[in-house]
Order: sequence, then C-alpha cells, then structure tokens
Amino acid sequence: MGIASINPATGETIKTFNALTDAELEAKLAQAEATYQTYRKTSFEQRTAWMHAAAQVLEDNKLAYGRIMTLEMGKPLKAAVTEVEKSAWVCRFYADHAAEFLADAPGQTDASQSFVRYQPMGAILAVMPWNFPFWQVFRFAAPALMAGNVGLLKHASNVPQSALAIEEVFSKAGFPAGAFQTLLIGASKVADLVADDRIKAATLTGSEPAGASLASACGQHIKKTVLELGGSDPFIVMPSADLEDAIATAANARMINSGQSCIAAKRFIVAESIAEQFEQGLKAKFEALTIGDPLDEGVEVGPLATASIRDELTAQVKACAEQGATVLTGGDVPALMAKLPERLQPGHYFPPTILSQIPPGTLADQEEFFGPVALVFRVPDLDAAIRVANSTPLGLGASAWTNDPEERERLVNEVEAGAVFINGMVKSDPRLPFGGTKHSGYGRELGSQGIQEFVNIKTVWIK
Ligand code: NAP
Repeated sequence: MGIASINPATGETIKTFNALTDAELEAKLAQAEATYQTYRKTSFEQRTAWMHAAAQVLEDNKLAYGRIMTLEMGKPLKAAVTEVEKSAWVCRFYADHAAEFLADAPGQTDASQSFVRYQPMGAILAVMPWNFPFWQVFRFAAPALMAGNVGLLKHASNVPQSALAIEEVFSKAGFPAGAFQTLLIGASKVADLVADDRIKAATLTGSEPAGASLASACGQHIKKTVLELGGSDPFIVMPSADLEDAIATAANARMINSGQSCIAAKRFIVAESIAEQFEQGLKAKFEALTIGDPLDEGVEVGPLATASIRDELTAQVKACAEQGATVLTGGDVPALMAKLPERLQPGHYFPPTILSQIPPGTLADQEEFFGPVALVFRVPDLDAAIRVANSTPLGLGASAWTNDPEERERLVNEVEAGAVFINGMVKSDPRLPFGGTKHSGYGRELGSQGIQEFVNIKTVWIK
C-alpha cells in the first residue's frame, strides 16, 4: 500500500506521499543518534518544560489536529478532539512524574551503598496503527522522551498527515531536532531498520502478524520489544448487575471509534436469566445511533478506516450467520448505504450489528471483529462465563458487571487479561499500566511501568 491520506467517509484522496529514500532514511537515523548523545544528558527539568510545551501545542491546536485524524481515518470529530486532549494529558502526566518514576531506587545489600539507576537506551522505533493516530503515539513518546531516549515513528501508511503533525508538535514545543522524527516508510522497511545498530529497541501497536514479524526481527538482533496487539475483550454481565447501566456502557464500549478499538468490548457474555433483556436493550441503543460523515456534528458512527477492514468484517459476519448465528440487527451493508447521501457512497460504512445465539466453533470464538459488531453469548452461570471469556487466544482487557463480592473476586482472579474493569468499561489511563497477556502482547505502556520499559535498569553496588 502507498503512503496516502484517503478520506474513508467519501473515498477522496486528500494527499499522497513518497516514501523516504534510503539516503533520507540514513540522514534521519544519523540525526537521531547525534541528538541522542546530547539529549540523554539533558535534565528532567528541561525535558519537563519541553513536554509541558508539547501538551500546550496539542491543546492550542486540538481542532486542527482532530480534523486531520477524522479526514484520514474516519473517527467522529468530537472523539478526535478528545483524543488530542488525552494526548496532552499523557504528556503532562509524564512531565510531572518521570523524575519520580526514574529516581534511583535504593536496595539494602552487603554493599555500603547499592541502588538501581534507570538510564536511557537510545533511539526507540515505534510502529503504530491508524485507529488512535495521536493517542497511540503519545503514550509511547511521552515516557520515552522523558526517560532521555529519542523516538522514531513509523506510523500506519494511511495516516501520514497525523504522523507529520506529531513530529511538528515536538518541534514546536522546543525539543531538539532529532528527538522525535517521523519516518514515512512502508512496513517492508521495518526489519532492515531494526537491524541498524542505532535503533536500540522497538514497540509495535497493531495486529498479531505485524507484532510477530517485528519481534522476530528484533529477536535476531537481541533488541527489546513491547507489543500491544489485538483484543477480543469480554464484557460479562451477571444477574446482580445494574442492567440499565451495563447496557448503556456496553453500547459505548462496543461503538468507541466506530468499533475499531483494541479494547472495545467485543464478546458480550450474559447470564441466561437476563440475556433477553440485555439483547433487546443493546439492540435499541444500536438502532438509535447516528451514522454518517464523521465531520458532521451529532454523528456517532463514522466509516471504517479502509475498504479491506469492511470486507473482512463483512466476511466474518457472513460466516457466523451461515454457521447458525442470529443477526439481531444490522449486518446489511447495502441497506445502510441506500440510506446515506450520494457523496458518502464511496465510503466504507458498516451498520451497528448484533450477532446472538452464536453456536460454538465459529470465527467469533477465535478472531477479533474490528468494527461495530457485538457478539452475544448466553451462559448459565459464572463458571461458564469465565470459561467463555478465556476461550480465545487473546487477553487484552475485560469488563465484568456484578454486585456480588464473591463473583467480583473470582472475575478479578480468573479472567485472563491485562486489565479487568468491574462495573465499568475498559479504558486506558496514564496513571495505570496498559497492556495484554496471551496473543494480545507483552510489556506495558503508561503508569510507572510504562516508562521503565525502555531504560537500562542498571544495578549499582559500592563496597
Ligand atoms: P497492522 O496492519 O498490524 O498495522 C499496524 C502498524 O504495523 C502499521 O504501522 C503497519 O504499517 C505496520 N506493519 C504491518 N505489517 C508489518 C510488518 N510485517 N512488520 C512491521 N510493521 C508492520 O494493524 P492494523 O490492522 O492497522 O491495526 C489494527 C490492529 O491493531 C487490531 O488488531 C487492534 O486490536 C490492534 N491494536 C492494538 C492496540 C493495543 O494497545 N493493544 C491498540 C490499537 C490497535 P503499514 O500501515 O505500512 O502496513
């Protein structure tokens, strides 16, 4: 795929870009290395000032940056602006806490003095996805830069303007040239890049195949990786839950980013006794959603980011229906398109869809559905709920709804996921670590744990 901004709401090509030549890429790597040699010696006070300035640049330009995202990947403008604000939050969070998270940590031993010192590693490569074009990058960049590393971004090929805008944020904030650079390159260049001595570690947020490919290239060169991969998060509802709240949250949790979020609730695992009420409630919420051009005020569900995402989702829904699942609402792309205006016809829209009565052994047990499709499973009790929740290869987040303290404790202990939220939807928060287990990846972003991923944890022992 070429590097281009194509509006997924209308199919219009906004701008195309040439990938960097080998010479241009070499110049950027050389600059990253040169900058690192001085940048790593800057004080926390200096980096804090730059990072607060970056937050300010984001806040001052949130509408313009939000529009770039909406036009490139189709999220409703209001959500895009909120994403810019959240990116500013993570900058301020690490600006204020990095020195504390990376302070020397004493340990009592047989030495007169022994402690741990956290030191930067060098240039870190971040391979990022298009679904949260700003947030995903800033949650990597804010801690990495505060730790004294420099960042190199290989963003998804469909969000080049977002990628360049992010480079601009750090430059306007006063960071030295080379502290954060965007590399407009295709995925095929990543393995060679990782082999370069000047890249010290890498992180990837995206699909399992991409994560496996990066990790294997890094493995060859003994370089650390953090992987944030897909999710098929369960949303468990037990009879003691506040059902109205659970239904309203379920609709939001599935529809966030038009369904294209790794931590969107995807599999709704509901106690049989309340399942009918839950399904009807969710159906009403889905059918009330406003679908259209994501730049228009009031639109809650925009297009999917690319035609291939819509094609894959269409095939997944069709396969499940053919294997016996009931389509409770949605599923019919032509019917949705017939209701949308002429100028949106080239867009990649998909209707909010609910599949229920899904027999065992369909794709719904194994694959991530990356779009506005809720999969509902009815279960007799908590044992079955936990069994179904853990039955996929993925383990990113989980949301569980119950007011029974014993059930709550079992869910916290037994659900295989990087995060469990009780009576709330899964969300990322700079103050808490974020990441997955199983095929959802390893390592953590955010919190104190996130900033300690890309540092040399040096043990110091003085007799
Ligand atoms: P993707 O195809 O894996 O793309 C993600 C990034 O990886 C892009 O920059 C892409 O570049 C690059 N890439 C693709 N193949 C690669 C390879 N073989 N080697 C190196 N880099 C490669 O992912 P996507 O489909 O755009 O994103 C959706 C997936 O991301 C979903 O599974 C979602 O759940 C997951 N995700 C996870 C998190 C999390 O925090 N765990 C957050 C958001 C999304 P090109 O664009 O140039 O191909």
